Amino acid sequence: MIKEMICITCPNGCALQVEEKDGAITVTGNKCPRGVAFATAELTHPMRTICSTVRTIYKEVPVIPVRVTTEIPKQRIFDVMRVLDPIRVDQPLGRGDVLIADVLGLGADVIVTSNVLKEYLADRILKGEGKHEQ
Ligand code: SF4
Repeated sequence: MIKEMICITCPNGCALQVEEKDGAITVTGNKCPRGVAFATAELTHPMRTICSTVRTIYKEVPVIPVRVTTEIPKQRIFDVMRVLDPIRVDQPLGRGDVLIADVLGLGADVIVTSNVLKEYLADRILKGEGKHEQ
């Protein structure tokens, strides 16, 4: 049976036709060899990255963006999202700071990708408003 999939490795988004027969994987429609690697990984161990947001305790900056530092197994995405959902950040985390190290033992950290909360809290401290008020 031939499977069709879109290679998401680069913006070309090649439409791949992938056939697995007797343990061999044949790929057509790819403009470069990375399409074969993508299709093979999709059939054997699909991986994805996660970019999301987590909530904070500060109403002026209610959410901050986060991502995982490396791809994780596709079937674990919702497990990671369930870990992120109850989090309420109350620390001055900024870009690159680790929010969760080795999330669920998957070998990927969840890191913050913006300085918006850090800058907001620094500004509050400058104004003498304290950083832990909501
Ligand atoms: S097959 Fe190559 S050119 Fe096509 S989307 Fe994948 S990486 Fe890009």
